Amino acid sequence: MSVHWIADRTKCFDSSGIRKVFDLGAKLKNPINLSIGQPDFDVPELVRQAAIDAIQDGKNGYALTQGMPVLRDKLQGRIDQEFRHGDRQVFVASGTSGALVLAMMALVNPGDEVIVFDPFFVMYNSLAAIVGGKVVYIDTYPDFRIDLDRVASAITPRTKMILFNSPANPTGAAAGPEEVEGIARLAEERNVVLVSDEIYRGFSYDGPFVSPAKYNPETLVIDGFSKSSGMPGWRVGFAHGPRAIIQEMVKLQQYTFVCAPHPFQWAAAAAMDIDMTPQFETYRRKRDMIVEGLANDYELVTPGGAFYAFPKVPWGTGTEFVTKAIEEHQLLIIPGNVFSRRDTHFRISYAAPDAVIERGIEALKKLAKR
Ligand code: PMP
Repeated sequence: MSVHWIADRTKCFDSSGIRKVFDLGAKLKNPINLSIGQPDFDVPELVRQAAIDAIQDGKNGYALTQGMPVLRDKLQGRIDQEFRHGDRQVFVASGTSGALVLAMMALVNPGDEVIVFDPFFVMYNSLAAIVGGKVVYIDTYPDFRIDLDRVASAITPRTKMILFNSPANPTGAAAGPEEVEGIARLAEERNVVLVSDEIYRGFSYDGPFVSPAKYNPETLVIDGFSKSSGMPGWRVGFAHGPRAIIQEMVKLQQYTFVCAPHPFQWAAAAAMDIDMTPQFETYRRKRDMIVEGLANDYELVTPGGAFYAFPKVPWGTGTEFVTKAIEEHQLLIIPGNVFSRRDTHFRISYAAPDAVIERGIEALKKLAKR
C-alpha cells in the first residue's frame, strides 16, 4: 500500500488520547476507572422495552432521513414550547456526534475560522480541521469562564462559528446566565453562527439550564439522548435551529449517515416521557463527593454540571501524573492535553459507582502527597 493513498485530512489530528487510556486500562485487572464519558446508569426499563417492541414490530428498515414522526414531532413540540421561535426546526441525527459532523459540513468552508474554548470536547478541533476550518482557541484557564471581551476580539471577518458547550466536557463548567446571554448576543451582533452543544443540559446542578437559543433565535442547538437517557450505544441525537441550516444538514445526512437507528428512535420517544431527575440528583451527589474528597489536596473549580471534574495536577505534567496514576494505583483518568493545548490538568469522570469514586479519591490523595 502506498502512503499517498491516505488523505491529508487524516493528518490534521491524532487518534483520541482517551482511547490510549482505554487500551492501557484493558490490560489492568481491577482498575479504578474514572475515565469513561458515559453514565453508569442503564437505560430505564420502559425505554428498553420500547426498543424491544420496536424491533419485534418490524421497525427495522430505514428510518426517514429527518427522523421518524414519533420522535421528531415530539421533539418539535417540546422545542416550540421552550423557545417559541417561528423558524426553529428539529431533525433526528445519528448521535450528537453525527449532528456535530453535519453542522460542520453544512456551515464551515475551507479557511473559515471556528472559535473553540480551551479546554474543549475532543471532537471540536478535529471536526473543524476535517472540513478545512481554522480553529481559533480561546483559553479559559484557570476558572473556565467565558471572557466576552476575548471572544469579541477573536472574531475576524473570517469567523464562521463559535462552538459553545455548557455544561462542558471536560471541565464540568456550567456557564452562568450572563455568560450565556452575552455569548448569544455577541454572536448575533457579529453575524457568527453560534453552535450550542447541550448534551449535558439535564446534568445542571447549581441552577436551571439556560440555552443561548433563548437570547439568539439563530443558535444551532446540538443535543442527544446518549447521556441523559444512558443510551450512548443507541446513537440517537438531534439538532434544532434555523430551518435553512437544518435542511442542509438533513440533505447531508441523506448521503452520509442515511438515518438515525430506526428502532431506537421509538425508544428515544419513550425516553422523553421518563423523569430522569433521580439520576441527575445522584450525579449531583457524586459531584459533591469528588469536590469534598479532593478539596484539601487539589486545585479544583467546582463543576456546575455534566459528570466531569478537571483538577490541576499537583506535580509534573498532566501526562506524567496520569501515567503514574495508572502505574501505581491502576487509576484511569485522562490527561488534560487530550482536551487542551495545555497539559496541566486531568479529567475525572465521576459517572461511576460510589465505591469506585471512593477508591479514586483515596488514590488521588496518595498521589498528591508524592
Ligand atoms: N458533545 C459532548 C460535549 C460530548 O461529551 C459527547 C460525548 N462524549 C458528545 C457530544 C457526543 O455524544 P454522542 O454519543 O451522542 O455522539
